[in-house]
Amino acid sequence: MPDKKPRSKNERVAAGTLLLLSKKAKRKLVDDVDEAVNSANAHLAQDPDRGHVLRVMVAAGALLGARAGVTIARGRREARLAGQNRAFKELSAFGLPFPPQYASGFLERAWEDEVHALTSAQSLAGQWQAMATQAALRAERLERSVPASVTRTKRLMASRAERTAITEISQAYNAEHKAAVEEAAKKYPALRDRKRRWSCMLDACADCASHDGEEVGIDESFSGGDEPGHVHVRGACSAEYV
Ligand SMILES: [Zn+2]
Repeated sequence: MPDKKPRSKNERVAAGTLLLLSKKAKRKLVDDVDEAVNSANAHLAQDPDRGHVLRVMVAAGALLGARAGVTIARGRREARLAGQNRAFKELSAFGLPFPPQYASGFLERAWEDEVHALTSAQSLAGQWQAMATQAALRAERLERSVPASVTRTKRLMASRAERTAITEISQAYNAEHKAAVEEAAKKYPALRDRKRRWSCMLDACADCASHDGEEVGIDESFSGGDEPGHVHVRGACSAEYV
């Protein structure tokens, strides 16, 4: 890790917001997995045969996909609002009034959250379904408790839920933060004299840390086309306007 300059208040607030929203989404995703496990186990309690196990796991996987889709869509929406709110605050600090009607693109951009949420939820549900089905079939074969083996998937899913939450929250937040300011720049050309500066969390990886403090024009990409929060999954960098 290169020398870290002290974080500005803005940077700390952004990092805190991302952390808070990610934690909330992760908790909810863990609940969604619990729900799928409980639902599967309610149907697996009495000596299930192989065919029954497979049918139950397909249904439980679909349940998880639907629930996680709602959770991620809500999380992304909250993150998008937080990103917009941050843009408003930064613009006010520049002395530019920013009434919400200027952010008319918000609703148009927000539909992307539904698509991302669906894709991400299906991926998470698919991972769980594969893992839980394998565990259940193995238990059935070895004449062990099938519900107990399905229950053990909860622990393994916790880190995947966390990864999904951080990735989705961070991407929605950063996308809206950038888009809202680009939209405002159409109204206030003076904004084009401002810079967008990359800001890393303290535990950022080497790739992200190499961007820390990098400044570009407000509608330019950072070097290599990288964007904060979009370099890799679990990325939690952000940007600030200076
Ligand atoms: Zn990184």
